[in-house]
Amino acid sequence: MTDTFDVVVIGSGAGGGAAAWALAERGVSVLLLEAGPAYDPFSDYRLDRPDWETQHFPAKVPTKGRQTAAPMQKLEEKWRDLQSWNRVKGLYNTGERRGNWGYSHVVGLGGSTLHFTGEAHRMHPDAMRMRSRFGVAADWPMDYAELEPFYLEAERLVGVAGPSNDPTRPRSAPYPLPAHPLCYGSQQVEKGCQKLGLSFIANARAALSQPYDNRPACNYCGNCTRGCPRTDKGSVDVTFIPKAAATGHCTIRTEATVLRLEAGPADHVSGVEYINAAGAKHNVKARAIVVACGAVETPRLLLASDVGNESGQVGRHFMETLSWASSGLHDDPLGSHRGLPSDGVCWDFNAPDAIPGIVGGCRFSPVVHEADLTGPLTYATRVVGGWGRAHKTAMRERFGRALSVGAIGESLPNPGSYIDLDPEVRDKNGIAKARIHSHLDDTELKRLAFMAKTTREILKASGAGDIFEEYGAYDGFQPTHVFGTCRMGTDPAESVVDPFGRSHRWRNLIVADASVFPSSGGGESPALTIEALAIRSARHLADRAKRGDL
Ligand SMILES: Cc1cc2nc3c(=O)[nH]c(=O)nc-3n(C[C@H](O)[C@H](O)[C@H](O)COP(=O)(O)OP(=O)(O)OC[C@H]3O[C@@H](n4cnc5c(N)ncnc54)[C@H](O)[C@@H]3O)c2cc1C
Ligand code: SF4
Repeated sequence: MTDTFDVVVIGSGAGGGAAAWALAERGVSVLLLEAGPAYDPFSDYRLDRPDWETQHFPAKVPTKGRQTAAPMQKLEEKWRDLQSWNRVKGLYNTGERRGNWGYSHVVGLGGSTLHFTGEAHRMHPDAMRMRSRFGVAADWPMDYAELEPFYLEAERLVGVAGPSNDPTRPRSAPYPLPAHPLCYGSQQVEKGCQKLGLSFIANARAALSQPYDNRPACNYCGNCTRGCPRTDKGSVDVTFIPKAAATGHCTIRTEATVLRLEAGPADHVSGVEYINAAGAKHNVKARAIVVACGAVETPRLLLASDVGNESGQVGRHFMETLSWASSGLHDDPLGSHRGLPSDGVCWDFNAPDAIPGIVGGCRFSPVVHEADLTGPLTYATRVVGGWGRAHKTAMRERFGRALSVGAIGESLPNPGSYIDLDPEVRDKNGIAKARIHSHLDDTELKRLAFMAKTTREILKASGAGDIFEEYGAYDGFQPTHVFGTCRMGTDPAESVVDPFGRSHRWRNLIVADASVFPSSGGGESPALTIEALAIRSARHLADRAKRGDL
C-alpha cells in the first residue's frame, strides 16, 4: 500500500508533536507516524491503585535494550566523591567502569513528554554563544530574540505556569498562568538558599496552576514522572497532538515504526517505509519528511537509511544530562512527599561563566519527587531499611521528612560521545541498533564536583544535612535529556541541518527534535526549546510548501 501526504512527521514527542501541529494548523496535510502506542491518562496511569508505587512510568513498550552502549570510562579514585550511594544499599555501582543504566525515554504517542517532569525552560541567551564566547561546542545559528515569539507560542499551547520575577530570560509577555505556590519541602530549600545568599524563585512548569484549555488545575500529587492522570501536565499527547488532529489535516498512525527513508532523485528524499503492529510494511510518499525520533534514534534512522551523513556529522556531538542529587532527612515532619516536583529553582550559576573557573553553567532545584521519595515503599527500602517493630517505628518517625536537592549542568560535546550503528546487534526488524558512546571529560567532572558540593551546602542550610543518599551521572549513564547528533548551523562541514532544521544536502528533509541543539545550556530542561524550534522550522516549511518550494 502506498499513500501520499504533503509531509510525513516521524516521531510524536516534543519535536514531532509540535511540528505536526504547526504544519497542520497551516493547512498542510500531515501523516504523523509513531512507533509506540497511545496512552490513556485516565486508565493507564495507576496513581489510584494500591500498587501505584511499584511501577515508575508504566511503559507499554520496554525501552531497556532498545539501544546498545559501548563500554564506558573507568572510574577513578580522584572522583570517588562523585559515586552514587545510599545508606541502606551501599554503593550503587561497585564495578570498575561507569555503568549503562539505560537512556530514559518513552516509545508512545507524545514521546518522552509522557514521562517528563514538566519543567518548561527557555535557554539562557548567553548559553547559545558557547563557541564565540568560550571556544567550546557551537553557536546557535539564531539568537534568543529570534526564538522568543516561538517560546511564547509553545508556552501558550502547553499552558506554562511561571514566575514574573525571572531576570535571566527576557519576555515580551507574561506566562499564560501564574506560578505555583512552593510546596512544604521547597519552602525549606528557599530558606536554605536565602541563608547562603542565593536566589530561589518559582520554576516555570508545564503543569496548570488554574484550569486552562479544558484541562483541570494540578492537585499536587507529586508523581508527574509516573504519568499525569489529570491531564494538567502539558505533555504533547494532551496539548499539541489533539490540536493537530482537530485541524482535520493531521492523520495519526501509532505502532508504526519507520524502517528507512527513501532517497529520491537529486537532492530530495521521496518517502518512507514503515511497519505496523501486525508486521505489514507500508510505503508513503511525501513532499517533505520531518524526522523527530529523539537525539539517539534520529541519527540511527538517518545512518541506517544512508541519507544526511555526507559530511560525517550525523551522530556526533552527543550531549546528555549532567546531573546530581543529594537527599537528607530534615528535623521536622515536612510532608515533603506532597507538592509539585521541582516547583522552585536557583538560576545563580546557570550562565556559562557563572561557575568560578569552569566554563558552562548549572542550576539547582528541590527534587524530592524526582528522587522518588513520595511513597512508603521507597522510604522502607532507601531511607529506613530493616524489619519488624523497629522498622515500623522508624517509618512513622521519618516519613515525609526527606528533602532532596538536585543540580543539572552543561554537557559539552567531546569526541568520545557520539551515536553510531551497532555493527553486531539488530532489532527485530533487522535494522542495526543505535550504539551509544558516552564519555564525561574532566571539565564535566569538575562541573559535577561543583554541583555536588553546592547541592550539599544548600541541603545543609535547608535543615537536612543528615544525607542518606546521593547519585549522579559520574558512575551511571541514565540521562533524561539527550541532545546534539544532528547539529544545526550554517556551515555544512560542521553541521547536519540549517537554522530551520533543513538538511544541508537533502532539501526536503527536516530534523525537528533535540538532535539539532548545538549546545546543551547550563541545566535548562529542553522540551520547551525543542517545541519552540520545531514550531519555527515547521512554519518555515509550511511557507515553502505554499510557495511550491519543496
Ligand atoms: C523522566 C524524564 C523526565 C524529564 N523531565 C523533563 C522536564 O522536566 N522538562 C523537560 O523539558 N524535559 C524533560 N525530559 C526530557 C524531555 O522529555 C525530552 O527532552 C523530550 O521529550 C525530547 O523530545 P524529542 O522530540 O527529541 O524526543 P522524544 O520526546 O523522545 O520523542 C521521540 C519519539 O519518536 C518515536 N520514534 C523513535 N523512532 C521511531 C521510528 N523509527 N519510527 C516512528 N517513531 C519513532 C519514539 O517512540 C518517540 O515517541 C524528561 C525526560 C524523562 C525521561
Ligand atoms: S503533580 Fe500535578 S501535574 Fe504532576 S501528576 Fe500530579 S496532578 Fe499531574
